[in-house]
Amino acid sequence: MPTPPPARSLQSRVLQHRCPGTTRRPVPTELPCLAGDPDLWFAEHPHQLRRAQQLCRGCPVLTTCLAGALERREPHGVWGGEIFVDGVRVAHKRGRGRPRTRC
Ligand code: SF4
Repeated sequence: MPTPPPARSLQSRVLQHRCPGTTRRPVPTELPCLAGDPDLWFAEHPHQLRRAQQLCRGCPVLTTCLAGALERREPHGVWGGEIFVDGVRVAHKRGRGRPRTRC
């Protein structure tokens, strides 16, 4: 099971972005991943990741957050409204358990 980065690490990565069209950096309370429970962004269950994606949609630095995550090849978690697994952006993350068998 992937371990979420420490909250301080998450904060330093997302607060480096500037709000689009300004020179201003966001304050933590403006970013859903810092204002709420950061573990949601690194959850195992697909429905929790979808919830994190929904919360990202209201984030003022969504586009720059996604660009930064792609550049850093984030190993896991939700960044910029997208799910990352093993450094790659994926459409969906499967839940834990036995893989489906082919008939
Ligand atoms: S886009 Fe999502 S992960 Fe990135 S700073 Fe905003 S809330 Fe956090």
